[in-house]
This record gives sequence, C-alpha cells and structure tokens, in this order.
Amino acid sequence: MNLMIVESPSKAKTIEKYLGSGWRVIASVGHVRDLVPENGSVDTEHDFQMRWQIMPGKEKQIKLITDELKRADNVYLASDPDREGEAIAWHLLDILSSKKLLANKHVYRVAFHEITKKAVQNAIENPREIDKNLVDAYLVRRALDYLIGFGISPLLWHRNLGKSAGRVQSVAVKLVVDREREIEAFKPVEYWSVDAMCDKDGVTFKSALAKFNGKKVDKMTIENKQMVDDILSKIGTPTINAKVINIERKKTYRHSAAPFTTSTLQQEAARKLYFSSKRTMSTAQKLYEAGLITYMRTDATNLSADAVNEIREYVSKTYGERFLPRTPNVYVTKSKNAQEAHEAIRPTHFDNDTKQLSGDEEKLYNLIWKRTIACQMTLAEFDSVTADIETENKVAVFHAVGTTRIFDGFMRVYIEDTDDNSDEAETKLPAMNIGDNINIVELLHEQHFTQPPARYTEASLVKKLEELGIGRPSTYATIMSTIVDREYVEQDKQHRFHPTSGGWVISSYLDKYFNELVDVNFTAKTEDTLDDVSNGNMDKLAALNDFWGPTKNMIDGARDVKTTDIIDQINTFMHDHLFNNAESDKCPLCGGKLGIKLSRFGAFVGCENYPKCNYTQRLSDKETPTKTEVSENKKPQPTNIDLGDGISFKIGKFGPYVTDGKKNVSAKKYTAETMTLDIARELLSGVVKKAEPEKLGKNPTTNAEIYYYPTGRYGAYISSNRVNVSVSEKPDLETAIDLINNKKPSAKKFFRRRK
Ligand SMILES: [Zn+2]
Repeated sequence: MNLMIVESPSKAKTIEKYLGSGWRVIASVGHVRDLVPENGSVDTEHDFQMRWQIMPGKEKQIKLITDELKRADNVYLASDPDREGEAIAWHLLDILSSKKLLANKHVYRVAFHEITKKAVQNAIENPREIDKNLVDAYLVRRALDYLIGFGISPLLWHRNLGKSAGRVQSVAVKLVVDREREIEAFKPVEYWSVDAMCDKDGVTFKSALAKFNGKKVDKMTIENKQMVDDILSKIGTPTINAKVINIERKKTYRHSAAPFTTSTLQQEAARKLYFSSKRTMSTAQKLYEAGLITYMRTDATNLSADAVNEIREYVSKTYGERFLPRTPNVYVTKSKNAQEAHEAIRPTHFDNDTKQLSGDEEKLYNLIWKRTIACQMTLAEFDSVTADIETENKVAVFHAVGTTRIFDGFMRVYIEDTDDNSDEAETKLPAMNIGDNINIVELLHEQHFTQPPARYTEASLVKKLEELGIGRPSTYATIMSTIVDREYVEQDKQHRFHPTSGGWVISSYLDKYFNELVDVNFTAKTEDTLDDVSNGNMDKLAALNDFWGPTKNMIDGARDVKTTDIIDQINTFMHDHLFNNAESDKCPLCGGKLGIKLSRFGAFVGCENYPKCNYTQRLSDKETPTKTEVSENKKPQPTNIDLGDGISFKIGKFGPYVTDGKKNVSAKKYTAETMTLDIARELLSGVVKKAEPEKLGKNPTTNAEIYYYPTGRYGAYISSNRVNVSVSEKPDLETAIDLINNKKPSAKKFFRRRK
C-alpha cells in the first residue's frame, strides 16, 4: 500500500479521489511539531540546537499516521510546495524515523502546485528528496522568531510596555505609527484652481488654467483668494471669446495587470471584495484544496505553457481573434527566490467557468478567473486629445484633455483597482481644430488644501511591505491579523489602520532600544538572508550567527535601561501626539507637567505630582479597553476538565462540581480558571480550609488569569492555565508571569502521562 501525507483533510479528500485503490491519503492538519515554548529551546551556546515537542493536540494525528504507516510500503510526503510545507515534511520524517518506523519503507517527497489528477500523478512519478536548504531556511526563520520573542517579551512585560514584539509585525506596527506621525505633523497648504467651462457648437467641456500672463500655472501656483480675484478680473467676464491655439492627438494603450501573486490577490480582494488578508487566504486555501486554483502562496507571475494555451483558446473562442495577442503575454517574476514558487495564482481548468461555488469562494474564484483570462488578452486602446485654448485678450491659456476608449481589449473582462482613485475618468471633447472659436461661458474657482498621506489599509500595507522586501507570500496574512490581535493597531470603518496607545508605546520603545530590529532595511536584509539560505547560497549557522550577534547586543543593552529613561523616551516620542501645543501638557488640577504612565492595564496620561495630585486622562477617546473583556465573556467555559489523578472538574445541571469517578462534590465557588487539582482533592476529602484564590492579573503569553493560593497542601502557590508554581509569599504580577512562563515541564505531568 502507498501512504500519502498532506496538510489538510480536504486536500486529502481531493487527492484520494484521483489516486484510487492502493492509496491512503491522510492529513497532518498543519504543523505537528514546534519548539518547546520555554527558555533555552534554541541553544545559542551550542550551534543553535533546537528542542522540539509534538504540538498540543497533535498526538492524535501522529498516532493516526503511525498506525497507517505500519501497513504501507511507500510513504509520500506531499505537504505544500513552499518553505513551511517542506518543514512539515521534514518534521514528519524526523518523528517517524526517530520512532524507527521507516525501516524497509521507501520515503519520497512529492510537491505539486495544483491539485489536479495530472499534477499529482506527475509528482508521484518524479519524487525527490526533502530540500535541505529550504528546511534550513525554515529553521533559521523559526529560531529568529523564537529568539526575538523570548528575548524581548519579558522586557516588555516587566515594564508594562506590551504583550510581545515579533520580528516582522513590529516593523508593520512601526509603519502604521510612522504614518500617523506624518499625518499629525502634516500642515495643509492652501491652493486654488481656476477652470473654464467652454462651449463649442453647443457642446460644453471643462478646461483648466494652464498659463496666465505668459507664466505657467501649476497645481500650487494660485495660493489664495486674492490671486484668484486678480486672475478673474484680468481674464474678464462674463462671456469670453477664445481660440484653439494648439491640438495634440495621440493613441494611448493600457495593458492588463499580471496574473495574481499572493500579495496582489490580497490587495485586489481588499479593494474589490473588501476581504481581509486572512479571509482572502483562507478562501483561496479552500479553492486550492478543492483542486480549483494553483497554490495560493507564491510571488511568481508566470504561467505554465499548458495554462497559457488553454487561456488563449478560451479567449479566441469567447471574445474573438481581435482580443487575442499574436504571441502570449509574458510576465516576468520579480522575486529572486524562485524556489519557493513556480506559478502565479490561476484557475486549474479553463474548459468551463461555471463551477459549483457560492459565497466567498465564488467571489474570489471569479476574481482569479477574470484576472487570469484578462492577462492573456490584447491592449485596451484610447484616443487622447489635448487642446490649448487662449482667451482673446491673450491673458490666459486653458488646457483641456479628452480620453476615449476606442477598443476594450482586456478591459472587456477585468480592470484593476487602485488604492488612490487617481484614475482619470473617460472624458470626451468635441471635435476641434486649430483656429476654432470657443466660448468660455463660465469661470470656476475652487479652494483646496493639500492632503496628508492616507492611513494604510490591509491592501496598501501589504503592498508597502512587499515594496520594502519585508514579509513573504506565506506571512502577509499572519502579519495583518497579528498586529490587530495584539491590539497594536485597530481598523476604522474604511478598514484603515490606526495605532492604539499600545502600538504607540511599543513603537516608542522599540524605536530607541531596538532600533535595528524595527529598521526596514535590517528586516528586509534578514528576509534576503532567509532566501539565500533556501537557495543554498548561505549556510544556516552563518545566517544565525550574523543575526544573533546584533540582536543579543540589543537585548543585553535594553535589559539594564532604567524605567525612568524609557518613560522619558516614550514621552519625547509621543509628545506631539499627546499634546497638540505646549499648553496642553499642563495638569488642569495643579499645573504640573503631564506625561505617560505605564500600568498593567495599559498606558495613560498622569501628573508629575502623583501621589499628591491624582489627575489622569485616557490616551485617546478612540480607545476601547473593554473589547477584550467582551470577547472573553463570550468564550464558552469548558465543561469538563481533567485535573489529573483521575479527578475532573465539571459543570453539571446544578452547577460546577468535582468528581473522582466515585464521588461528586459541589464546587460552586470555583470556575474552570480557579479550580486546581489541590483544591479538588480537598473538596473530595471533605476538608475545606482554603482561603479564596486571589486574582493577580493576566499572563500575556497565554492570556490566562494568574491566581494566588495562600494555603496549598505544600504551602502557598500560584497557578495559571493549570501550571502551578510554589511561592513563599504573594508575588507581584511581573514575578508571577516570569515564574509561570519559565516553569519546566513538571514531574507531576510526567507521572500522569505514564499512568
Ligand atoms: Zn496635577
């Protein structure tokens, strides 16, 4: 029997359909193994050795795989064709061979970019080894992210600066904060426009003032109303005779956009369908796994020869020869890292375009379909006419522009949207020749102000990251959702990103103490290094050493910084954001200086004369501190928790209780969060002498509450998410977080597993 292992159950289902008898296709359900989430899992002293563990909840999947493996002669590792997919295949191979389950079995790595019968069979006929370079690139990536997370996060918790600082998302937050600072520092500049409504043989059209008194008029030339009045009086009113003094005609062309990459798909789905990056990617994944589109994580824009032929056939059949270019349109992939991806995102079949789809999948599939068809169609053609119209007194020249689409070309099928609707609408001009008389029937003037740069949307931020060389097709969606989930940014009704106070605080801090880390060039260089490793141009250890040196220096340097210095830095960085003018940083109660204060509940503004003066104000009225509370209350409480030693905490008809299988004892005072094995034992034994557990605050890594229990069986202890640590006295929150997060796997757990 042949066993194929893929990531997802729906992909398994699609492939099993193609392969028939003699094959079993099962899913690993994503990654199965990850670094042990505690300090020291990447050993920087010993060549960055990494300690792995089966991810919680994945034991079942491993068991399923090992059971099936016993009956198999050949094993095909067919996870997705990119860095993460290669890593999954490597982890599986490592787990299975360390269990000594692969003796007398052939193991193959197969990869395909589309899940069609042909592609799958072709891959099986051409298996390969696991790509060590790609795996190395994954290992470097994982180690970097781990080292930064575990290096910086404790520094942040310790001083209430934030929840975590990731390698790439910190740069994304910085971009959002930097844009906000640009907007706040922006000084609008006044300017005016003067237009003429012209009439030629009863057809009216608009033209813009281009020259006045022999001088060129640009966008910013007319600075105020006085200048407008001067211009208008010199041109004369009401009806003015004018003449066409110059005409230029030319034909212009527009070509279709390249087929979709991950980045452009996310951008267009955001503009046209208002999808978030995450929604786009999960929808695309479903289409891919159903065999309808090619792999959705790619930065390539090229198409296979087969696909091009099918598209051309479809175009000529459906739209006619005029819409078919003589030779196929070719799109060159810009990415240097061709190994990660081979083709653009496109439909797998072009024989019919009415797939049985609905909802998001239908919308996204149609978008991909149209874009792909359009990319192999002819240019759109426009007639463009510009006319210079001079007033009879020769004081002013107006400029009129007309554009007419004369052949649709690809625009018959698809037009790409832009972020900043600068697209000139089609405007028609009447037929004109040099010397023709024109009547100016009205002069229009309008006041304008220059606009600050626009806040980023998901689409424009993904575009920016791609331009800067930060992030990769596999990470854009995660970056977007992480910065929102960590509450560093929030989105308004137009889906534009605003930094939260948390985003401001962390950016102020990282900007000074981890400047290199949030530097866009440094991050782009790191991503290039990862590409180099995956292309075999750089050694894994060299890459890690290159990176770890400066990062370790930054972490060490930041550890000893005084909190007052950090507060000063944040106050300086945020001053203009907090206080529009110097007056507003005075305390309204005592006249003292106001500034940033950090608390475990977030940053706020307080008075320098605290505790004598207790004036405080919120950072901004946009803040919605109750958001997390709300979402947590909605979370359903687990109703059956295994506490270990055969004892469980359950929620029954009459409320919470504990049971050892024989005896049930009511535990009404407790919740799933506060119950521990210790308490359950005492309740069951009938001796209740406990003081109530006391809330200490949240553990930012798990988002679980930490409780202090003054009277445990072995003395006082703290507990969070079923991790207990003995303490001699009640710790403060920071200490408690450190203790919980650095707890090594306990002997008790080990004992339990053996049972
Ligand atoms: Zn005060």
